[in-house]
Amino acid sequence: MSIIAENLDKVRLQLADSARHCQRQPEEITLLAVSKTRPAEDIRAAYAVGQCDFGENYLQEALEKIHQLHDLNICWHFIGPLQSNKTRPVAEHFHWLHTVDRLKIGQRLSKQRPEGMPPLNICIQVNISDEASKAGCNPEELPELVSALSGLPNIRVRGLMAIPKATDDSNEQAAAFKRMNSLLLELQAAHPQLDTLSMGMSGDMQPAIEQGSTIVRIGTAIFGARPARPA
Ligand SMILES: *Cc1c(COP(=O)(O)O)cnc(C)c1O
Repeated sequence: MSIIAENLDKVRLQLADSARHCQRQPEEITLLAVSKTRPAEDIRAAYAVGQCDFGENYLQEALEKIHQLHDLNICWHFIGPLQSNKTRPVAEHFHWLHTVDRLKIGQRLSKQRPEGMPPLNICIQVNISDEASKAGCNPEELPELVSALSGLPNIRVRGLMAIPKATDDSNEQAAAFKRMNSLLLELQAAHPQLDTLSMGMSGDMQPAIEQGSTIVRIGTAIFGARPARPA
């Protein structure tokens, strides 16, 4: 068995354990394999053992891999920051975008989504730890943003995404995930179709699942440590 297949086995077991631990069904939680910086062969190795959802952060790199792997039935998620002048390739080649933080991005995506493709699934990124350096909208902006985005024809607002501030304090970590869960609940009153919380990475999958995550984004635990990315 390849190391990637072994790692995937372990992560699936951890995911199932974490789910059962809080009386959830493992099937409610999608494992998104974050393959940024990894070659297409690594994605093939994971796909060969049943992994279908892959997440990429860097547009040019992602487009090359999508091209190299067009023979596979992969569900592609874009999870990196996106400038508004780079929306077209995302609208044309991806199934999900996790990092929408303003209306303009959504408007462009809806306009650029090719005819015949299903609506692009989007999550709104929330700056949940209120970090000056972090992407994402403020929680107070959510109700208006969700309402406006929901009116666009070729995107489908699915829920919220966050990357909480890195911390060793497990209470602080859980509190950030819990706030995300409350924000989604509040929005669901007016938007019952929202069904997604994209949160939890290799280091904090369990607390994210305990607070209702429905998509965990796991890179290192599946593919190993990433090489430092040149600036
Ligand atoms: C890189 C990345 C991940 C995966 O992080 P790991 O710690 O390697 O699991 C998840 N989400 C986002 C947005 C990322 O950029």
